[in-house]
Amino acid sequence: MWLPRSAAEPPLTPRHGPDSCPRCLNLTGAAGLCRACRANEQHLAAVLPRFYSVGGEWLHHVILAYKRDADPSVTGAVSQLSRICETMLASHERCVAAAASVATFQIVTTVPSADPLRDLHHPLRRILGSEVRHTRARYERLLVRSAGPAIPRVFDPARYQATRRLDGEAVLLVDDMWTSGASAESAAAALLAAGAGTVAAIVVARHLNRAWRDNDRLLRRLARDGGVGERCALCAASAPSPPPLGQATAGCR
Ligand SMILES: [Zn+2]
Ligand SMILES: [Zn+2]
Repeated sequence: MWLPRSAAEPPLTPRHGPDSCPRCLNLTGAAGLCRACRANEQHLAAVLPRFYSVGGEWLHHVILAYKRDADPSVTGAVSQLSRICETMLASHERCVAAAASVATFQIVTTVPSADPLRDLHHPLRRILGSEVRHTRARYERLLVRSAGPAIPRVFDPARYQATRRLDGEAVLLVDDMWTSGASAESAAAALLAAGAGTVAAIVVARHLNRAWRDNDRLLRRLARDGGVGERCALCAASAPSPPPLGQATAGCR
């Protein structure tokens, strides 16, 4: 029997290693890309899921609730997501930039929602465009859904259209949840087709189902081995040993 991870017990941080997909950090228990990543064309120069969102646990509830902001079990979900985004971007945007081999991202944008009405009022756009100090001056809505039908969780370079031409800018895509990666990779394809120089993604969480295959054992092992902390998967990989107390962490603050 496991207990949901709560706000007092922070969500687990993915780690690169032999048990995880090198692209999306899905727990596979084997080397190489997971099935979902193999099914996508890969257009993102780098991908960072900051946390795991395990179905039914705290962060999963927060991410589901902030989109409708009405779940009675989670109060202030939009504020919680806003705080998570502020810390995630202030601390780890630089890690994604280094992995994507760019100095900085000139533009920050989001993946359009599947529902056009919801997309118009999506709270992540408001969070990044007006609340998060680290992104609000650079946020721009660069993508809209194309008119044609879209098959969920299937990569489609025509799923989105850019709202304007780009001129080689590095673009950071921010999303709340990575499930198959098809939306983010499709969005990256559209941005590159519009002239972006580099597109990379930072995502609040990689979704996992604890009951799937060996996930429960692998998540328990990650928790036991220190899978919680201020380092993301990228800065943890670049500096595997914890620094002495009081010493700054490279690539992370
Ligand atoms: Zn993957
Ligand atoms: Zn980092």
